[in-house]
Amino acid sequence: MSYLVAANWKMNKTNAQTVEYLQIFKKLYREPLPNVEVMVAPPFTSLSTASIQLRDSLIKLGAQNMHFEEKGAFTGEISPYMLKELNVEYVILGHSERRHIFGEKDEVINKKVLSAIKHGIRPILCVGETLEERELGKTLNVIERQVRSGIAGLDKDVFLVDIAYEPVWAIGTGINATPDQAQEVHQFIRELLKSISKESDNGCRILYGGSVNENNAKELIKEKDVEGFLVGTASIDPERFYKIITHCLEA
Ligand code: PEP
Repeated sequence: MSYLVAANWKMNKTNAQTVEYLQIFKKLYREPLPNVEVMVAPPFTSLSTASIQLRDSLIKLGAQNMHFEEKGAFTGEISPYMLKELNVEYVILGHSERRHIFGEKDEVINKKVLSAIKHGIRPILCVGETLEERELGKTLNVIERQVRSGIAGLDKDVFLVDIAYEPVWAIGTGINATPDQAQEVHQFIRELLKSISKESDNGCRILYGGSVNENNAKELIKEKDVEGFLVGTASIDPERFYKIITHCLEA
């Protein structure tokens, strides 16, 4: 199974900046890497531009969110149909900012996961505990609830999902989980997935996200169950993002 390294640009970059970034990044990443798949998730307004830029490239295109319905009266929302037309292959769902700032609940995230798969878009389901939950010793309970509800109803199709473990306290704070902390939760998720469906071993990757950068990626990726990264801040700069990818190559 190859690693997946995914860039979440969040609410950063105009169309012009997207072109600039991808021109640089395509020069850095022009040879296929044997064990690493790379995805970039720009904001919705840059998806069309990115889709043209990434045509015939090795880089996959992702979206940062998606509505579960195909069309209708949902002002401000984007549907899987619209994403498919732009060759979007991945969608980040249940990101902690969606959960905590925009109030997305497990049930809605599950609907989005099911809808993405139905439309042939691979979801990256984000899960993670808050600092308070960690300090109360509830980390694994929270992760179990978020994983179980996120993939509910998938049964044998579980292998069509990737999971990103992103502790809320590590996102955008500069404080990453230690390799041991990440491995503990990743191993737990791996076992949980196996207990839900044996099919999960056929492709379900468990990524780590939360202040990953070019300095800490090397140690984190050495952990047995860390199978890639979801990178926010450090992915905004093409050179930094590419360095993170090269650490996976060496693992
Ligand atoms: C993220 O947004 O998914 C993320 C992990 O952000 P950062 O790398 O900035 O912590």
